[in-house]
Amino acid sequence: MRASAGRADLPAFAPGIFGVSGNDGLPVLLGSRCAPCDRAYFPRSSLCPNCLGETVEQELGSRGRIYSYTVVRTKPPLGLPAPYAVGYIDLDSCGLRVFSLLDAARPECLQIGVPVRLAVSPLGHDGRGNPCLRPYFTPVDAVAAT
Ligand SMILES: [Zn+2]
Repeated sequence: MRASAGRADLPAFAPGIFGVSGNDGLPVLLGSRCAPCDRAYFPRSSLCPNCLGETVEQELGSRGRIYSYTVVRTKPPLGLPAPYAVGYIDLDSCGLRVFSLLDAARPECLQIGVPVRLAVSPLGHDGRGNPCLRPYFTPVDAVAAT
């Protein structure tokens, strides 16, 4: 997926699902963690679904591997480019499996087990026609090639 230059100031399509890592300035998924249960959740849940205790916000990292995916060739929702891809990513930092938009610019790069990293670009709209930033995972090799 191609980013539109100069649009990094757009709002996120949903608040609190990604941030910027203080370590390297790259985007990271934001979720929550319940300390007593030692479980992470995405998207963030203010209460732990397991024990109903309060959770704290936690960075869930930006890297993982594709567990499963599909490339969708029907008319995309929310102004997304066609085709678009979605799938499950197993996050390296915590083992959590998250459902996410994937980079479909080069569908041949999408394969089960491929390492991916999080990216954020202006993509589609927020459902009311306003452009917005949207996180997606892209194959690490495809990133290095661009
Ligand atoms: Zn808990």
